[in-house]
Amino acid sequence: MSCEITLPDWAIAENKLLPDRIEDLEDRMRAVIQFSRLNFELDTGGPFAAGVFEKTTGEVVLIGVNRVVPMNMSSAHAEIVAISLAQQKLQTFDLGGPGMPEYQLVVNGRPCAMCFGSIPWSGIRSLVVGASGDQIETLTGFDEGPIHPNWQAELKRRGIEVVEGVLADEACEVFRDFGQSGQPIYNGRSG
Ligand SMILES: [Zn+2]
Repeated sequence: MSCEITLPDWAIAENKLLPDRIEDLEDRMRAVIQFSRLNFELDTGGPFAAGVFEKTTGEVVLIGVNRVVPMNMSSAHAEIVAISLAQQKLQTFDLGGPGMPEYQLVVNGRPCAMCFGSIPWSGIRSLVVGASGDQIETLTGFDEGPIHPNWQAELKRRGIEVVEGVLADEACEVFRDFGQSGQPIYNGRSG
């Protein structure tokens, strides 16, 4: 018994084409948004991507994408995929472990309730968000779940930086296009 999360071939190729470092925060987000668009346009998952970077230097660990439908795995949201693959690549269960640089998660939309919960467990020290939760739900119809009302404060209280609204308009463009594409909205437990 085992389970495996893999990136689609195009995303493996695109990761190889990324520079070793992306110093500018908006450029990191721009790369993540591009992955989110390719993922749904190439039919390899939902319109979500997340990248793990070394916060200070911008060194790229990897950018992952949502894999829920193709892998038959409801937990394979972009954040979980990116964090899990980064931990495998760096061979640690704790990205915030002793002696490690600060790692940053850059996501094209605010994490859902599940992914919010995964962030303190991961050791990530900085979260950068594009579109807001409201924007995602309005533009796509996804239900992002019952996230804590003071989620930013809860992360900050645990030493995790939160930066919101980075290239939100560009992130929303992808969600808008996805919403109009007729592709499946695969969660279905809206209250
Ligand atoms: Zn999620």
